[in-house]
Amino acid sequence: MRIVFLGPPGAGKGTQAAQVAARAGIPHISTGDMMRAAIASGTPVGARAKEFVDVGKLVPDDVMIEVVRERLGQDDCDPGFLLDGFPRTVAQAAALDRLLAELRLELTHVIELQVPNEVLIERLLERGKRDGRSDDTAEVIEERLRVYEELTRPVSAFYAEKGSLIPIDGVGTIEEIGTRLAAALENGPGGP
Ligand code: AMP
Repeated sequence: MRIVFLGPPGAGKGTQAAQVAARAGIPHISTGDMMRAAIASGTPVGARAKEFVDVGKLVPDDVMIEVVRERLGQDDCDPGFLLDGFPRTVAQAAALDRLLAELRLELTHVIELQVPNEVLIERLLERGKRDGRSDDTAEVIEERLRVYEELTRPVSAFYAEKGSLIPIDGVGTIEEIGTRLAAALENGPGGP
């Protein structure tokens, strides 16, 4: 399976993506985790990304596309992969299409976890207190949600036009959402 997970910050993408990837036996590729790791270990990509991540802005497309191109070229992606947090702009989605076309591969599922803003803000503030993530503060959360509306919402439309978007209600317990996801992954777009 080659899966893309879309959804705003706080939608529960990371949690659900990890479970789906583990069940499917494919790597869970979180570009947010990759950026945090790069920043923590002070790589050139990390140095470039930090100024954007800290304020809730998107890391430039050329940096992200290169990071993902390199990651998808690794052997563990041969059986498939789950991308969590990428693509986040239409330019990234188009670049992913081109990359997959070069590799003669196609996405099997594009999942969008849908959660209303009030619930997102509540969850993100809680996570900020619990995990101490530097971008889970009220000010940065607001910016990340604004960026999502402006730049990432059109990515859903990009996949919806191709008929490959699978919307999933992301409100409920982790288990409930997991069950919805498992059903959607079996049925694909247009399924019940
Ligand atoms: P996340 O953990 O997915 O919320 O990502 C945390 C931060 O990493 C984002 O606010 C961005 O600054 C950066 N980031 C992660 N994925 C991308 C992406 N596909 N494009 C640009 N920036 C990204």
